[in-house]
Amino acid sequence: HVSPRTATLFPALAEGSSRPALTFGERTLSYAELAASAGALADLIGEARRVAVWATPTLETAVGVVAALIAGVPAVPLNPKVGERELAHILRDSEPSLVLAGRGDELPDALAELSRIDIESTATTTSGRTWPEPAPDHPALIVYTSGTTGPPKGAVLPRRALASTLDALEDAWQWTSDDVLVHGLPLFHVHGLILGVLGPLRRGGSVRHLGRFSTEGVTRELGAGATMLFGVPTMYHRIAEQLPEDPALAEALAGARLLVSGSAALQARDHERIRTATGRAVIERYGMTETLMNTSVRADGEPRAATVGVPLRGVELRLVDEIGRELPDGPDQVGEIQVRGPNLFLEYLNRPDATAEAFTEDGFFRTGDMAVRDPDGYVRIVGRKATDLIKSGGYKIGAGEIENALMEHPAVRDAAVTGEPDADLGERIVAWIVPADPEQPPEQAELAEHVAAQLAPHKRPRVVHYLAELPRNDMGKLMKKALHA
Ligand code: ATP
Ligand code: MG
Repeated sequence: HVSPRTATLFPALAEGSSRPALTFGERTLSYAELAASAGALADLIGEARRVAVWATPTLETAVGVVAALIAGVPAVPLNPKVGERELAHILRDSEPSLVLAGRGDELPDALAELSRIDIESTATTTSGRTWPEPAPDHPALIVYTSGTTGPPKGAVLPRRALASTLDALEDAWQWTSDDVLVHGLPLFHVHGLILGVLGPLRRGGSVRHLGRFSTEGVTRELGAGATMLFGVPTMYHRIAEQLPEDPALAEALAGARLLVSGSAALQARDHERIRTATGRAVIERYGMTETLMNTSVRADGEPRAATVGVPLRGVELRLVDEIGRELPDGPDQVGEIQVRGPNLFLEYLNRPDATAEAFTEDGFFRTGDMAVRDPDGYVRIVGRKATDLIKSGGYKIGAGEIENALMEHPAVRDAAVTGEPDADLGERIVAWIVPADPEQPPEQAELAEHVAAQLAPHKRPRVVHYLAELPRNDMGKLMKKALHA
């Protein structure tokens, strides 16, 4: 009952070994069991044009996505917590003909008209059908961007991109079939689904999903021999906060082979706190839905706070100025990151305009992220072109650097920086501060002085707003659209 169709993506699945592949809570599927249940489901998916997957953080979702890959039918993972408007937009845009969901899942009305298949994680009856291997540029997944800067766009990801990004991470992280990943992320984005589930499957290793992230879960799984942890910065922030009073957590992290952060910038302070308490440095990687992974600090490289490391194998990366000229290296050379390689998406679904705009004439993808490079090539992201680049008093200033400096102030728990129109300066720097103690928020003059001393006088905030929380989405990404005075 083993389908050769995914043999090139997941060799261990084709071999059908009895090694554990996926664990969610109390339930584990071996590679043989996964091949059987996903194979049976692939039979039911058949020749569908496109299939939606109701992507709860469960074993069923993982089986559903693998089944779609076996059938060679492009899968659209849906965020089960998504709002009605966004769900309607995604369904209108992607037009799935089928939805896969767990047996007990209640689906919203918007999905009622689609035929539904309940995902059986223990099914074994397959037709024994053999499926031809799709071409490398066959669409495997359509993943929607996070919608941080505008409505989510459907990135059409070919099989080649999945394979090449996961193999580049194998190279950078020395990722093997002996690795056991601890995972507590949702399964409808690149990070949680492609890196966190398909990554271990491609390596022939295994993943233990926590269902919901908790520091207790991390302690338990790393303590039981797991080797890697993938997380977003908010998770590492929680870990950093808890470490001083949780020696078991510190010991578990100290024993891990690799702690990886991505999806948003890891605060330098959290990096340092974790390193001090555990002797382990969290390494950062940088990617996006459209490009999958672009850079990472290497497992055998020097970890460094506030950097996302070096380009991955096969990825060409350059920084360019406003008129598209490649920048020389240097600390003050802020440019847009452009990338080219086998990791790139094919197109934005139904958006030929946006697709055309996103690529340069020579085939590089314009990421919209701004960065500088250390002399030895380490990339430091300073922010997004659209929301994080402030033009003030003739300077181009990255919001990220100021946010980092503000968060190093002991009276600041969280911080965001934006630019506001200003008659004199062009734009003025505005800080949004969550005070560590709401009763005693730090004064504006003190924060301005702190930033001026750490960075430069022209980088000090001119206006400070105080908030109880910053608007962040489920991956910990700051939704700057929602920050209004
Ligand atoms: P949209 O494109 O819909 O506005 P989005 O860009 O947030 O949303 P994703 O594709 O999920 O959607 O996120 C990619 C972005 O996340 C990158 O362009 C970058 O800005 C940010 N990012 C990812 N990893 C890192 C990292 N390690 N450090 C800083 N930023 C990161
Ligand atoms: Mg984006």
